[in-house]
Amino acid sequence: MAKYRCTVCNWVYDDVKQKVKFEDLPKEWVCPICGAPKSAFVLLTEEKTGKEAASEEKAENTVSDVLINQIAAWGVRYVFGIPGTSTLGVIDAIRKTNGKVRYIQVRHEETAAFMASAYGKLTGHISAVLGISGPGATNLVTGLYDAQLDHAPVLALTGLVPRKLIGKGAIQEIDQQAFFEPLSVYNKTLMTEDQTTSLVTLAIKHALLDQGVAHIGIPNDVQKLPYETEILPFEGRMPNMAYGQEEWVIEKAAKVVDEANRPVIVIGFGARGQGTKLLKLADKLGAPIIATFRGKGIVDEMDSRYMGGHGGVGSTAASQIMEKTDLLIAVGLSFSDLSQIPQKRMVQIDINPLMIARRYPAEVALLGNSAVLIPKLTEKVAEKNRADYVAEAAKLKAAWLEQLQAEADPKAKPIRPPYIMKVLNEKVADDAVISLDVGENCWWFGRNFFMKRTQKMVMSGTLATMGFGLPGALAAALACPERQIVCVTGDGGLTMVLGDFLTALKYNLPVKVFVINNKRLGMIMQEQKVEGYEGWQTELHDFSFADFATNAGGLGIKVTEPAELEAAVEKALKSDKPTIVDIDTDPRRFAT
Ligand code: FE
Repeated sequence: MAKYRCTVCNWVYDDVKQKVKFEDLPKEWVCPICGAPKSAFVLLTEEKTGKEAASEEKAENTVSDVLINQIAAWGVRYVFGIPGTSTLGVIDAIRKTNGKVRYIQVRHEETAAFMASAYGKLTGHISAVLGISGPGATNLVTGLYDAQLDHAPVLALTGLVPRKLIGKGAIQEIDQQAFFEPLSVYNKTLMTEDQTTSLVTLAIKHALLDQGVAHIGIPNDVQKLPYETEILPFEGRMPNMAYGQEEWVIEKAAKVVDEANRPVIVIGFGARGQGTKLLKLADKLGAPIIATFRGKGIVDEMDSRYMGGHGGVGSTAASQIMEKTDLLIAVGLSFSDLSQIPQKRMVQIDINPLMIARRYPAEVALLGNSAVLIPKLTEKVAEKNRADYVAEAAKLKAAWLEQLQAEADPKAKPIRPPYIMKVLNEKVADDAVISLDVGENCWWFGRNFFMKRTQKMVMSGTLATMGFGLPGALAAALACPERQIVCVTGDGGLTMVLGDFLTALKYNLPVKVFVINNKRLGMIMQEQKVEGYEGWQTELHDFSFADFATNAGGLGIKVTEPAELEAAVEKALKSDKPTIVDIDTDPRRFAT
């Protein structure tokens, strides 16, 4: 018997109460509270079969046992980390759950934090990291900052020196309370046993609702204190987040939309999962759709109503449409400098009040869940026939597609990145999860890869940190075990986290890593060129990632000839092993 959480409205489906196992519900079943699809649900708790339950140790419980059982009851399935001196109590409590909470041992804490961040972005649910005091905590920081800035829920647990040593300069002691303050939405130290369940449930609540990192430091001696208490259930402790704005505000927004001549719908990560609803709005208005990078794939990118991305990694179709628009209907975007969204009249939808008018004023702001507000706005706006505008947009889009097609030279050597993107586009599964790194690989993927709505992408959006790609893919393999997992990375980013390819092997996570190997920090080389600097310190030592993968026990494929690329990609995607396809690539952004 199991319970599942709707990640849109927080309603809990209980197998026993509903009398039908969640797994047996039809694919088209939707949340009875908010209408979210079955795929928006995550496993919260699972009751063990008699045999498994009997094997559970009956030893006296400690604070660590209560803490781990509490996070398990709130749906934490994974803890990522490296065991160490100041976390032994918590590690043993995870061991005692017999897999109810899975511990994933990585090679560097940065990978653990990237994995938890990626897991949050992909599922809308929370997982945990566990690091020791001092170096374990400091190594977590880049991945945690990534989660915090991209609004991904993560529970960060760290060990601390025993209470009696705090502040005395003990080995591996740093001021963790101060250290985690700027990168968390909740930051506390567990000082006594009777705080355990309340503190840890509040931490998860803050991470999910305030969208970021919740940190709890647990002194070594507190972890081992004997303690028994009731576990707090998830039900009744979370608000229904499927809320919208009052009717009169929506009517006011619709009036502004009705007055516009060339409206554009601009979408970001906050519109995820709303592709079908957005297309209905687009059709009623005769309005094209533009996305930020993190909004990529929400709408099928081959759709003629979709203009592409906007900004640094955008399409000409999107910028041409944007130039002449007189109204933005902005849904779930943060207005980062990278997306370069200009100031226009604007109707804005966002669930986070602080995202409203973050850069430019909004004429009408609709505060609430985009899943609720998109259909409400669609209902209120007047239907428009804008055949000319629709045709103009479709023509611009077709010209953009043609340009990208022409860029994808199948014969050029070294292999051109647009050709790599074209081949991946053709071969990758319709429901693949794609994890991106940062650099030229990411630039080319954003610009030249056309995602399907059924695919998912995860990336480091705001921190834009190199090294995210492989850990993101590892997390995707755990979050979506039934899907094909693809990582698009570069030689610079992959080297930062290469040791954790061994984690893929240890846990048999069949990630397919495609290295756009230009033997450079390619994006920085490009910037040096554009800014008139000498190309310097951007060349990287040439190294065979394929040999590394093979030696580690995975599948490694080196591609130097363009004619070999298709077969190599096919072979990798068919393999059930963790795989690295190392593709020798032209470092130049444009061949001419
Ligand atoms: Fe729901």
